[in-house]
Amino acid sequence: MTTTRRELLSAGLVAAGAAVSPSLASAQEHDHDHDHQDMPSDPALRAKALESLMVAKGLVDRAALDALVDTYEHKVGPRNGARVVARAWVDAEYKKRLLKNANAALAELGYRGPTLTVVENTAKIHNLVVCTLCSCYPWAVLGLPPVWYKSAAYRSRSVIDPRGVLREFGVTLADDVEVRVWDGTADLRYLVLPERPAGTQGLGEAELAALVTRDAMVGVAKVSVPREGAHA
Ligand code: FE
Repeated sequence: MTTTRRELLSAGLVAAGAAVSPSLASAQEHDHDHDHQDMPSDPALRAKALESLMVAKGLVDRAALDALVDTYEHKVGPRNGARVVARAWVDAEYKKRLLKNANAALAELGYRGPTLTVVENTAKIHNLVVCTLCSCYPWAVLGLPPVWYKSAAYRSRSVIDPRGVLREFGVTLADDVEVRVWDGTADLRYLVLPERPAGTQGLGEAELAALVTRDAMVGVAKVSVPREGAHA
């Protein structure tokens, strides 16, 4: 969003008495701060307007906000999920607990977030996660959703033609592999437990976690071993 737009929104809000809708908090909490079409959604505009107003009034520091976003995007981000996956790969009992009650298993590693279900990829089942309504996402373990996850194309096509979408992401599945598409909501989100790649028997938990990508935990990629790592 441009500065000009921020300023316009701030001005508009001030003129309107800067009423803060109670829907704002709930919208942010549920990851609905994104657009469904070309224009940002009403909650997104409200959030941006509120941010601009608070910055203008000196109530918050934009640099601090940017740092917070950066943390969720790049640091907290998918690394939490990767640690969970690696633990499940090396600890069969943990994996059982994770698949049965994901939130409790996440709490064991110190992660807390909205209600989550973990679905396991196998040689015969490939899981794909989407939020057809908007962009509900397991941010506690994956950070902020990528832009494509929020796109209208992904949200609609992953349900209509999941195999086609997977091919575009570079994942070609054999005909005998069942594709399961999970439609996340604000109340229930999904995380894919990818298959542990072959040739990783010698790797420790931290090394395994380093292989796990965000895309693999959304289900649009498989976990692979880089060439140089194949000899480990
Ligand atoms: Fe959503």
